[in-house]
Amino acid sequence: MGAFIGIDLGTTYSVVAYVNPATGQPVIIRNAANKAITPSVIAFDSQPPLVGDEAKERQLAGETEVASFFKRNMGDPHYLYTFADKDYTPTQLSTLIIQHLKQLAEQHLRQKVTHAVITVPAYFTHIQRSATIEAGEQAGLHILKIISEPTAAALAYGLRPGAAQREQRILVYDLGGGTFDISLISISEQELTVMATEGDHQLGGKDWDDRLIAYIAEQFEQEFASELIGDDINELRVQTERLKHTLSSKEKAEIRVHAAGHTGTYTVTRACFEELTRDLVERTRTLSEMALHEKQLSWSNLDGVLLVGGSTRMPMIGELIQHVSGKPPMRGINPDEAVALGAAIQATMEKEREDDTEFLLVGRKQTTDVIAHSLGMIAVSEDHSRYRNSIIIRKNLPIPSERARPYMLRLRYNNDTHLEVYLTQGENEDPQQCVYLGSYIFEQFPKIATREAILDITYRYDKNGMVEISAVERTTRQSLKVTVLPVPPDVPLRFLQHPDEQQTQREHITIYLAFDLSGSMQGDPLAAAKLAAEEFVNQCDLTTTSIGLISFSDRVSIDLIATQNADQIFQSIQYLTIGRTGIENSGHPFDAIENLLSTVTGRRYAVVLADGVWEHQKKVIRKAQKCHAQQIEVIAVGFGAADEKFLRAIASSSEQSLFTDLSRLSETFSTIAQEITEANSQHSNPPGIF
Ligand code: AMP
Repeated sequence: MGAFIGIDLGTTYSVVAYVNPATGQPVIIRNAANKAITPSVIAFDSQPPLVGDEAKERQLAGETEVASFFKRNMGDPHYLYTFADKDYTPTQLSTLIIQHLKQLAEQHLRQKVTHAVITVPAYFTHIQRSATIEAGEQAGLHILKIISEPTAAALAYGLRPGAAQREQRILVYDLGGGTFDISLISISEQELTVMATEGDHQLGGKDWDDRLIAYIAEQFEQEFASELIGDDINELRVQTERLKHTLSSKEKAEIRVHAAGHTGTYTVTRACFEELTRDLVERTRTLSEMALHEKQLSWSNLDGVLLVGGSTRMPMIGELIQHVSGKPPMRGINPDEAVALGAAIQATMEKEREDDTEFLLVGRKQTTDVIAHSLGMIAVSEDHSRYRNSIIIRKNLPIPSERARPYMLRLRYNNDTHLEVYLTQGENEDPQQCVYLGSYIFEQFPKIATREAILDITYRYDKNGMVEISAVERTTRQSLKVTVLPVPPDVPLRFLQHPDEQQTQREHITIYLAFDLSGSMQGDPLAAAKLAAEEFVNQCDLTTTSIGLISFSDRVSIDLIATQNADQIFQSIQYLTIGRTGIENSGHPFDAIENLLSTVTGRRYAVVLADGVWEHQKKVIRKAQKCHAQQIEVIAVGFGAADEKFLRAIASSSEQSLFTDLSRLSETFSTIAQEITEANSQHSNPPGIF
């Protein structure tokens, strides 16, 4: 049996660790120079290429055939590095680093290494995670799992002597060489749960270096009227990084720049460095507060802030944390080593699962991570005027998570129907602001009796935070073939254009859910109604359906104007409360329904939920009939003390009045949503969206 390791594949440095089987403790495997950290640097001026300290030394000596910082472009198919006349992708370069770490581990353990957990910034997208797995596999490893760096660090934090027995809420502030990640984590003796995550993968120590480089280059240029270019800048980069490190322990430091036949000597104080980079520190604060706000927390609700990543050695970071949280940051684990140690613990737990065995292990915890980016697809807006990103699985839900959504489309006569879906990651409705995962093409549709098919598409984040998608045709339950193609070069620009006619033929549906929220709904009925509403939304094709919310009792409240934005719909459902519109039943929703839907084109529905006997029934029936006359389909759902005869009178037809009980409310709503969707597929003329 081969050994298994944990790898922290860093932008600037990488670290490898394993769990010592005799002690159950994770241990760092040191490199040939007896260092825990190995520079993520490769020098191509020798064969085979040099990796780690030797490569970094070549870089220091001014050698240019040296690759570094390539993690910043991980997964970008257009990014190629050319060394010794050969092109390398960031994935191939990462493979060389992983191979090097694997060899280190094999020499140390005197055994073949076959399995690994690799860490990635929590903020990594599907494509970046997939590229990381590929890099590991190309290095000859079976990748047990990809976990996020802050989660791994928090796992290692649980190891330190005297780790708290009670549950703690901590913020992991991870500022490395090229990335910044924030994770809000709850940690107890048995479990580690990530509650929220934020980050910026274009922010890291390198940006602090860049500020120093610009500052020094400017002084040099002023002094000698000579510009620093090419190799001079490379050399300056190495020197400034050293200067930056010195400023972490000293108040001032000196740098000597030799270029273009001149030598300039400059002194930089820590205060000056802090002034040059104040906005970068502020940005990390803003992102941290976004993660806290996500869970309605503030700095004072935290038990502590754990600093991870080399750049947190800069005193300005500790000072920021002290300032905002009123407490010094947590210490106790080496920030360079924590991530790899956590990865080794996770590798052991994953190997136990794979082999159904148990190893001696200290720091064992059930870990639950969260999704860092919402998953969406490109759809056409309700008024058909533009494309929009329609969110399907929300950010900060636990990994793994999945959601099924129906999708309607018209089949072609000649049997070559295909549906092309563009999946995205991002929080914005604007397609220009999203990351595109690829073009997902569904083919091999089964023969069915009708021309319109409903596909139940399942979108999934797997245990590695990677996206999977599958679809079945609803009547036959037959799975469709799915092929993933790279994103065409004109995406996302093409989504700036007006959707063409072919893409807008699907008829839009607008539905208002109108809930009677009088006093009798207090407690379980309200909870059941919220669940039923959520179930309803999940059964709607939000690429063609807008949903709004109305609540009423004595008065009427329009809680949400119909929208295709799942986030807003779920949020409004959560905000439904009793008492805001009174507690009796003297009001009714039909004036509001008529007003809201009279100007809307496409198919229009109101689903009215009642649990009691309304006052002024005759008048309400008249108002409901006005809606029917305008072709607004009214579906009435009653339970508890609702009056069945009255419900039949307000519904558009007797089949559209349903009486149920509390335990079957979700099922009833789900069925209504499915029937609306299916009814639409028989009326409309929808091709695939593209
Ligand atoms: P990591 O990716 O976590 O290994 O972090 C590497 C980053 O930490 C690089 O930008 C380093 O320059 C930075 N770093 C390491 N040590 C120090 C230090 N003593 N002071 C300031 N930055 C440091």
